[in-house]
Amino acid sequence: MIFWESFFIFLIGLILGSFLNVVIYRLPQGKSLIFPASHCPKCETPLRWYHNIPLLSFLFLKGRCAYCKASISWQYPLVEFLSGLLLVLLYLKFKPHYGVIVFSFFAFFGLNLLCLSFIDLFHKEIPDSLSFSLIFSGWILALLSKNPLSLSFLESLLSSFAGIGLLFFINELYYLLAKRDGLGMGDFKLMGGLGAYLGYKSFFNVLFFASLIGVVCFILMRIYQKLSREDLETSEDLLKKEIPFGPFLSIAGLIYLFYPQSLL
Ligand SMILES: [Zn+2]
Repeated sequence: MIFWESFFIFLIGLILGSFLNVVIYRLPQGKSLIFPASHCPKCETPLRWYHNIPLLSFLFLKGRCAYCKASISWQYPLVEFLSGLLLVLLYLKFKPHYGVIVFSFFAFFGLNLLCLSFIDLFHKEIPDSLSFSLIFSGWILALLSKNPLSLSFLESLLSSFAGIGLLFFINELYYLLAKRDGLGMGDFKLMGGLGAYLGYKSFFNVLFFASLIGVVCFILMRIYQKLSREDLETSEDLLKKEIPFGPFLSIAGLIYLFYPQSLL
């Protein structure tokens, strides 16, 4: 029973992931999310419905456009799969104990983080519409029902401002030491969204895991460059590159959501 339920939720996740791909592609360009219908970004031929089936179309088209054979980005199946997986995990965690409304809010939370992580990765920015909707929906959840992290509305409200303030403060500190910004405005607002959903008690864990994942990624990038003998950048150069922090914050937020044990 729970298998088929999960399978059904996974399929819904795939479909939502397919929509997230559209958002990831169009939102930063300020294009409409609904019109025109999906088309190949290269040859602009509108896609048939069977070119648009999550995961499966990518497989049977062997990752190429059916018309011009341009290769389709790995981002499409990856976002669809992650979206399906995330929705199932959230469903199993929240639906049985807290009901469908709380699950829906956390589904919005998780998929929003997935979406803004990819936009941050590609465009080095987090759209306000995503971070603000995270903050407001977090407040509404705390107002409507008992938050699984037992956050009151006031706590949710204050935590979101505390999150924004905390990253602003860290960035100022970094600026004093390094003479440049380490974080962006988008990161501040994202931390506000995490605060609204997870509360200020999550901040230590979130920053700890986000930094840890950041350091691991940094080391992996170095190893990759060494192995592929790309013209080696010094660590200094690599650090000066704008490394998006949004994906790290998002992953850390999700880790806390599933394991809300404070490290402190
Ligand atoms: Zn094409």
